[in-house]
Amino acid sequence: MLNDLYQETILDHSKRPRNCRPLECANRMAEGFNPLCGDRVKIFVDYENDVVKDISFQGSGCAISTASASLMTESLKGKTRAEAETLLGRFHDMLTKEQTLPAGLGKLAVFSGVREYPARVKCATLAWHTLKAALAGSGEPISTE
Ligand code: ZN
Repeated sequence: MLNDLYQETILDHSKRPRNCRPLECANRMAEGFNPLCGDRVKIFVDYENDVVKDISFQGSGCAISTASASLMTESLKGKTRAEAETLLGRFHDMLTKEQTLPAGLGKLAVFSGVREYPARVKCATLAWHTLKAALAGSGEPISTE
């Protein structure tokens, strides 16, 4: 089981997701889908001068995918694209590699227990892959499969 504090944070963010709304001023957007679980997410970014000025999401999915999108939006506001991609890389490593916690993940460390559940890793990373596509401006729908 995930430890209690971590589980509580994930539950809180899944029940009361932060930044869960369309973003009027968004100039980058991407949609993601995780067919394994049925999670869908849309990421909106107001991206200016290489900085994520504002970010939001909308979606329907399991608790882990919703909480991950919510915590991601909280973590990325004000970050440059390079910083966002570094964080994505660390987050992905935390979920897929046997190792100690990567530094600098802050609250995102609550997802470390998901590593024990390989089927849920895609739930946790969906929002992040979708964000990467939004920043790249590809506009193509993203699927985890
Ligand atoms: Zn899911």
